[in-house]
Amino acid sequence: MASCDKRIKIALQKSGRLADHSLDLLERCGLKFTKSKDQLFCYGENMPVDLLLVRDDDIPGLVSDDVCDLGIAGMNVIQEKRLQLEKQGKAAQFEKVYALDFGHCRLAIATQGDTDYTGSQSLQNMRIATSYTATLEQFLREQNVIAEIVYFSGAVEIAPRLGVADFICDLVSTGSTLAANDLTEVQTVFESEAVIIQTLEPLSAAKQKWVDRILQRLGGVLQVRESKYIMLHAPRSALREIVRLLPGAESPTVIPLEGDGDRVAVHAVCHEAVFWETLENLKSIGASSLLVLPVEKMLA
Ligand code: ATP
Ligand code: ZN
Repeated sequence: MASCDKRIKIALQKSGRLADHSLDLLERCGLKFTKSKDQLFCYGENMPVDLLLVRDDDIPGLVSDDVCDLGIAGMNVIQEKRLQLEKQGKAAQFEKVYALDFGHCRLAIATQGDTDYTGSQSLQNMRIATSYTATLEQFLREQNVIAEIVYFSGAVEIAPRLGVADFICDLVSTGSTLAANDLTEVQTVFESEAVIIQTLEPLSAAKQKWVDRILQRLGGVLQVRESKYIMLHAPRSALREIVRLLPGAESPTVIPLEGDGDRVAVHAVCHEAVFWETLENLKSIGASSLLVLPVEKMLA
């Protein structure tokens, strides 16, 4: 049990689409790691935090079984695991903490170019190949459709060509794999992105402190991605309008300008992208000396 161990364990994908992004995110939280020789384990050098590098499909189970305290995986595998556990009459022992804004994809139904599709009723009595049986089952149930689900552990896209399925239900991002297999996407089943999940098992006070600290830093890293620090000079009379135009800004700092009673300096953190149009609009109501700077770190 992870909770008996004093060090935090985080499960990440060993190699694949999520691996680099997941590690990079933790490194940006200030964690430093040394990889073990077999490349399955990363030892945290500056915090009691270790990484377990595994197949992405195993991550929800490792967190639910309390082998790991945290895990980063696609919402698609998290949802599939949750539904599989529900089918066995069990509840998943993890919760999502943050969506991480990478690994965007969708679980979608596709078919060969010449098949007519006019809505989910077109799936009635059809055979659908997928690795995501529980998620597809739930979708079909919601749509009141009865269809045969053919389980494929990988290479789902070849099922129609093999004549073992009429449709496939698989992950898509750009659609290039579908196109290469002469398949057309007809229906989205589930939208996904990478998320961080946390075990529901209570942790010791010392471990909880570290988990809170990591999650707080992670929240900061996610927030600064879009955030900008904006500085400008403005006439005091335009202050209200200026603040209204600043995208997602919290109460800005207003500083008097030496020797200029009418104008002030305004500093603010904007939590949304600052576009050229915003700067032009600010300028048109009297702002000058506009500066937009990236934010490196933030702690709320
Ligand atoms: P593993 O060996 O870890 O099981 P895998 O082949 O299942 O690897 P990847 O193809 O690396 O996994 O995909 C990992 C995750 O990346 C997916 O579960 C999904 O959340 C996300 N993802 C983003 N875009 C795509 C895509 N086009 N196809 C598949 N997965 C995608
Ligand atoms: Zn996988």
